[in-house]
Amino acid sequence: SVDAALREAKKKGRNSYFFYNEELHRWLLNKIRIENELPGALANDQLELFYQPQIRPEDGLLVGVEALVRWRHPKNGLMLPKQFIPVAEETGLIGEIGTWVLKEACSRMEAWQSAGGPKIPISVNLSFRQFRDSRLVTFIKNALDSCGLSPQYLNLEITESMMADDMEHSRNVLGEIRNLGIGISLDDFGTGYSSLSYLRNLPINRLKIDRSFISDIEKNKRDQAIVAAIVTMAENLWIEVIAEGIETKEQLATVENCRCRAIQGYYYSRPLSEAEFKRKYLFPS
Ligand code: C2E
Ligand code: MG
Ligand code: MG
Ligand code: MG
Repeated sequence: SVDAALREAKKKGRNSYFFYNEELHRWLLNKIRIENELPGALANDQLELFYQPQIRPEDGLLVGVEALVRWRHPKNGLMLPKQFIPVAEETGLIGEIGTWVLKEACSRMEAWQSAGGPKIPISVNLSFRQFRDSRLVTFIKNALDSCGLSPQYLNLEITESMMADDMEHSRNVLGEIRNLGIGISLDDFGTGYSSLSYLRNLPINRLKIDRSFISDIEKNKRDQAIVAAIVTMAENLWIEVIAEGIETKEQLATVENCRCRAIQGYYYSRPLSEAEFKRKYLFPS
């Protein structure tokens, strides 16, 4: 066991292996703890969605919103997806979490619209396992039907890496989803190995330019050229573009210069709790 290995290493003295083991040990303990606690997170309503606005800089209009899951952990506080989504993906619990996220996002958007909020789509991230689940389309329909949200106000975000090994299957599933009237975004665009072939083969209607093209964009002419080319290409394909991870006004100006018309990033807002999102973006007084 890890404990035994750790005791063994300790006896041998504080060499570099010991430190390595100690770190591994801590990492493993944390993983086991999360594995054990995650089922309770669902059962005890500890999951929560945060909302990040998507803005058209031209006039500051709210054009969409991305739902991002958080775990309000009784001891650790607010936990980010990277702290538990990988574990959920490994253990299979991502299925239940993903279904919850879909339902929650749809019913929030329906409630906001019923209260007179803007008619904008809500984006939900899918995981690899969800995408491969043959019940996915049923889950999506259920989420929409149970709250009465019209499919045009739901957008699903997928990544290139999810398509990699089965393009044929991916195209069929996405086609079915698009036929329901739901939008599909290709998230983290440009980080995969064959981004262009995905655009060519898949029924997607929006792409999100990955943050890595943005972080240095005001200085990096290559990034500028790439972003400008993506925007032009997308325009010709009738695909919407949104730039992710805009943090500064210089980045914003540069991206606008590349004719990108929608952005998401800390420059406008971090992901917000529902209460804050409503107050600042949906029903500002
Ligand atoms: P993503 O879908 O690419 O979401 C954008 C991430 O970038 C969010 O992190 C957001 O807070 C962050 N971000 C937005 N603007 C900026 C910015 O200007 N600067 C920087 N540095 N970061 C920015 P978050 O919420 O931690 O989510 C991370 C990833 O976790 C998401 O990446 C998505 O892949 C995954 N995720 C989030 N919610 C869910 C979910 O409900 N289900 C699944 N399967 N995955 C989720
Ligand atoms: Mg996303
Ligand atoms: Mg992204
Ligand atoms: Mg990402």
